[in-house]
Amino acid sequence: LWITFEGGDGSGKSTQAERLARWIGERGRTVLQTREPGGTEVGGLIRRIVLHHRGDIAPRAEALLYAADRAHHVATLVRPALARGEVVIQDRYLDSSVAYQGAGRVLDAAQVRDLSLWAAEDALPDVTVLLDIDPADARRRLDAADKPFDRLEAEQAEFHGRVRDAYLRLAEAEPERFLVVDAAQDPDDIAAVIRARIAVHL
Ligand code: C5P
Repeated sequence: LWITFEGGDGSGKSTQAERLARWIGERGRTVLQTREPGGTEVGGLIRRIVLHHRGDIAPRAEALLYAADRAHHVATLVRPALARGEVVIQDRYLDSSVAYQGAGRVLDAAQVRDLSLWAAEDALPDVTVLLDIDPADARRRLDAADKPFDRLEAEQAEFHGRVRDAYLRLAEAEPERFLVVDAAQDPDDIAAVIRARIAVHL
């Protein structure tokens, strides 16, 4: 069972991924909790490049770096864990690339998706939880949490608007894979909605 979490910065997906991983672990399943970019040692190096040089990497180079991280991550960590029967809970996957490098950086979304699918040898998760939030609400949430500079400040408001719209279009196109949750709700309520959807897979 492979579950990915998607959503804009400040949507709370890392918190919800953590909560779900704990809940599934308590049900006796072995859980691999991981993330992109940076789920592996090589990926950690790529993460440093893409995050520290954000804004000054050519958009296609950025897309290729995310795809390289993904290829290595899926091949060396995710697939082996799934083959061992583990549950993989992953913060971000290829939908992030379609939303950020595609819609955000205005590359061709279909090409970005094809690049990711090639990198990951067509691996797609069983369930993708999209935590949907208005970027302005996410901004307020990050400010309240006193998260350091680099997140939403680093990008324009329209960028995050495009990312959000792209995510919602992806979810519409694949309703069986996506669970869209209103991320402005109480975190306990969000966790309950996610658990209800995942319970049928356990
Ligand atoms: O969610 P996480 O904190 O790991 O994301 C790190 C940053 O990388 C985020 O600010 C996100 O906007 C960006 N990102 C991106 N393209 C991706 C994945 C993440 O621009 N494919």
